[in-house]
Amino acid sequence: MAVLLSADMPNFRFPTADSRRDFLRTLSLGVGVTLLTPSTFALPPERKLGVALVGLGKYSTGQLAPALQQTKLCRLVGIVTGSPAKAAKWKEQYQLADKDIYNYKTFDRIIDNPDIDVVYVVTPNALHAEFAVRAAQAGKHVICEKPMATTVADARHMIAASKKAGKQLSIGYRLHFEPHHQELMRLGQTQAYGKIDKLLSDNGFRFNNDTPWRVSKSLAGGGPLMDMGIYCLQGCLYTKGQVPLSVTAKFDPKPDDPLFREVESGMSWQLNFADGSTADCRTSYTENLSGRLRAEAANGWLELQPAFAYGGLAGQTSKSPSPLALPNINQQAAQMDDFADCILHNKPTRVPGEMGLRDVQLLLAIYRAAETGQKIPTNEVQQLIDRTQAR
Ligand code: NAD
Repeated sequence: MAVLLSADMPNFRFPTADSRRDFLRTLSLGVGVTLLTPSTFALPPERKLGVALVGLGKYSTGQLAPALQQTKLCRLVGIVTGSPAKAAKWKEQYQLADKDIYNYKTFDRIIDNPDIDVVYVVTPNALHAEFAVRAAQAGKHVICEKPMATTVADARHMIAASKKAGKQLSIGYRLHFEPHHQELMRLGQTQAYGKIDKLLSDNGFRFNNDTPWRVSKSLAGGGPLMDMGIYCLQGCLYTKGQVPLSVTAKFDPKPDDPLFREVESGMSWQLNFADGSTADCRTSYTENLSGRLRAEAANGWLELQPAFAYGGLAGQTSKSPSPLALPNINQQAAQMDDFADCILHNKPTRVPGEMGLRDVQLLLAIYRAAETGQKIPTNEVQQLIDRTQAR
């Protein structure tokens, strides 16, 4: 595993004597270029881990449930929904048993259901914590969608609940399992093109209010930064293999549109790394941004565009001007199978709650930078991560 993290990151140093903390740190930084080892053999259905989806909205319906028809180590067994009509539809479509269908009030009875091993939380952001904690208290492993939470306290509470239950908690960071992103991580972190001096990333779309909670501060925690910008943040961190020392940020001017009364319509921000390199990122709910992740290094450049979609990703580098010959896979199936593999073989997930907490802290630091116009140091962010991991 090539990890380029230590000496150049004074604010992020862990005691070297404690290898577990070093390992957790590697995980929480999302670095290390071990490629996904795809499971060659599918388990027979009765031995696959059972997954229950909480919240049957667009992502569960359009991506996760279909992906669970392709997973080799886990399968869709249960649902949690507030809508009897959706329950009936899903029951028929996925041949679910009545005993595996819950609503938000009966959800805690999942503790008595041995067929469900993993609860996957796919609700609006601010509700992630409630369901992740209830799932852990019911003795289940948890996958929680991004962003993990809207507050640091919620994210910590989720980690503590999973630890107390002795169960794993992972974040739905699908791109860690995607070949183009894994290649960018590898090339970036091994400095195959020399030191990365500049990163550029954007991700956005024209929001049409089809999911109104996305512009509710209390339910989403913020606007496009929480939703789309998080991909730019993650991509820069795992390509560079470092966490920034400080951040600066600027909101777009507020449009007249009442849609953006509570959250930003768009923003730009900069990550400043210890070696003097920077990442310039941008997100928006009023512009269709292409979804790009580019690294400019001493001896060349690397780029993914589109970078963050569910499929059709394309990559290019200065040394291979034709597109990288990498497959587009079912990202969600790969992500869920990797988590199932971790549970089955008692291995830590590479996208743990600690990584989600780190990112919540960085997202909040970016908001703070935009609100104050100040450069916000992230050393206090790291201290918070240290304390969480020490527990
Ligand atoms: P959605 O609005 O389509 O679905 C949300 C679901 O939560 C709905 O079924 C809704 O009924 C339910 N819900 C429960 N309580 C609710 C409440 N109080 N208010 C509103 N809805 C409530 O949203 P979505 O696009 O499916 O996103 C859900 C989560 O998944 C979000 O956290 C989002 O960031 C994440 N997501 C991740 C990806 C990814 O690529 N990893 C993609 C899309 C969404």
